[in-house]
Amino acid sequence: MLAAVTRSPGEMVIEDVSGPGPARAGNVIVRPEAVGICGSDFHLFSGDVAALSGARDFYPRIQGHEVSAIVEEPGPPAQSGTAQPGAAETVSAGDRVAIWPLLPCGTCYPCRAQRPNVCPRFRVVGVHLDGGLQQRLEVPAETLFAVGDLDPDSTAFVEPASVAVHALARARLHAGEQAVVFGAGPIGLATTLAAAQAGARVTTVDPVPARRDLARRLGAERVAWAAPDDLTAEVQDWTNGEGPPLVVETSGETATLPLAVDLVSSAGRVVMVGMSSGTAPLRPGAFPEKEIDVIGSSCATADDFRTAIRLVKANRASLAALFSHHFPLTRAGEAFEFAMKRPPDAIKIVVTVN
Ligand SMILES: [Zn+2]
Ligand SMILES: [Zn+2]
Repeated sequence: MLAAVTRSPGEMVIEDVSGPGPARAGNVIVRPEAVGICGSDFHLFSGDVAALSGARDFYPRIQGHEVSAIVEEPGPPAQSGTAQPGAAETVSAGDRVAIWPLLPCGTCYPCRAQRPNVCPRFRVVGVHLDGGLQQRLEVPAETLFAVGDLDPDSTAFVEPASVAVHALARARLHAGEQAVVFGAGPIGLATTLAAAQAGARVTTVDPVPARRDLARRLGAERVAWAAPDDLTAEVQDWTNGEGPPLVVETSGETATLPLAVDLVSSAGRVVMVGMSSGTAPLRPGAFPEKEIDVIGSSCATADDFRTAIRLVKANRASLAALFSHHFPLTRAGEAFEFAMKRPPDAIKIVVTVN
């Protein structure tokens, strides 16, 4: 069977590999169909593993954590007591599934606090163990969520959608409130959609006109792009001078956090989702003056994943516009090179596998 193997930074090669044998206890063999490429994939692909975690062996690795797959062979059940949090349902051969790619340790403080999505020892399918860019894949049963008749592209989008769902859960979003979403990439667009469907009034901020158009089609009341002073004036005007109660940062731009702290209303919340490696100056006095909450959000829980399946199913027609480019597995390396150039017309680049 074929696999796209990231052998070393920047080197992804198509190899004929033996693939998994019969599924081991607690595991399932699936046939990946569609794999979304995500900004977080670039860290491993480009060798920026410090952004992932220090002392682990990353290469060679088969990447891909946004996966739609068909169940080929469920293995024998796991011994009792070893199952991780995840899907409660059992899957059957032929089912289409989305993969919740986290394998948390189950014992650390975040795991005990029911927040396995930030387990410092978690392993991620496609990062710490092999992922979807191969024709057959063995994964623990609890990572698999059946999606019924959802199409492969949309199924691969459940994972990024779950990141948006989790961010809005962290945000304690209320119907009717005004929210500013920075960034209209896949996560920002999914956040815009989920917030609008939850009854929020959303302004989505992005420099790329085509992305702003998509944000509008997914439910943004307003879209914007302007220099910070002008943007602040626009948002102040939109919120009758109060500032929005919620700002969600998905762009990964370092400068957005200080801007969000300025923009958000007193008693408001800022949720940080975008990953950035830079540093930004903050005025600490703004925190007690405005009594704001600045909240981090990372990945998603299994419950968020279930919510994301419902969100994607209910909006599959409008989300179809996000799948801008497709590459076959044999050209996966080219797909990564293309994605890393961040062409403005690219939203979600999908590798089709089987
Ligand atoms: Zn991702
Ligand atoms: Zn843990």
